Amino acid sequence: MTGDVAPPIVFRTRALAKVYTSGEVAVHALRGVDFEARAGEFIVLLGPSGSGKSTFLNIIGGLDRPSSGEAWFQDRDLSHADDRTLTRYRRDHVGFVFQFYNLVPSLTARENVRLVTEIAKRPMRAEEALDIVGLGARMDHFPAQLSGGEQQRVAIARAIAKRPEVLLCDEPTGALDSATGIRVLEALIRVNEAFGATTLVITHNAAIAETAHRVIRFADGRIVASETNPTRRQPAEIEW
Ligand code: ADP
Repeated sequence: MTGDVAPPIVFRTRALAKVYTSGEVAVHALRGVDFEARAGEFIVLLGPSGSGKSTFLNIIGGLDRPSSGEAWFQDRDLSHADDRTLTRYRRDHVGFVFQFYNLVPSLTARENVRLVTEIAKRPMRAEEALDIVGLGARMDHFPAQLSGGEQQRVAIARAIAKRPEVLLCDEPTGALDSATGIRVLEALIRVNEAFGATTLVITHNAAIAETAHRVIRFADGRIVASETNPTRRQPAEIEW
């Protein structure tokens, strides 16, 4: 180490557990997750389907609550927050990107991003957000006039326009072919580097892990490995 001060911790969980009950059946989605993420990290979450990745992301994103254990964003206790507090937390601090883009079909790319910039506290301009994801020339296109990868990049622009401290992505390339997925991954990395948003990306695609600072592996509701990549690869260098 060179004596550099480590960036501050953004997320911290301790013994995080989530049980879903429906009727007689209890599903233990998370079974005690201890996790920390530091400001500016780009982290990929891998693991089989059903291993708890989405549940974990939803809890630290304030979309869901744990059954027990702790989840903190900076100095905010998310595990005991009421609905209003969680809504405010999501609105002010978190950008979400999901597998399906959920754009408003009757609005252009620019207008879709403006839906967010109009209500955010310190937004960037919609045009700037679209530039960052490489869509500066397509701002006035409607979703139906854009490819899947372009629509996903509009969704990323929408997520980052409020300058969130954290960007949480659940299978953002899941519906895309390889070449298109690489463009989306490049956009996420550019966002992470441009303004240091701590970024967590769930994927089934192990190749994507090579572009991360750190890789977290989930299995059966637990984190079973956390590995730092000694060198990161560029999205254009990977294949899937
Ligand atoms: P992953 O993202 O790794 O695929 P999930 O977090 O989606 O895993 O799911 C973990 C487990 O919790 C799975 O067994 C899943 O079926 C269950 N689960 C997730 N969400 C719910 C829910 N809302 N109600 C009941 N069970 C759920």
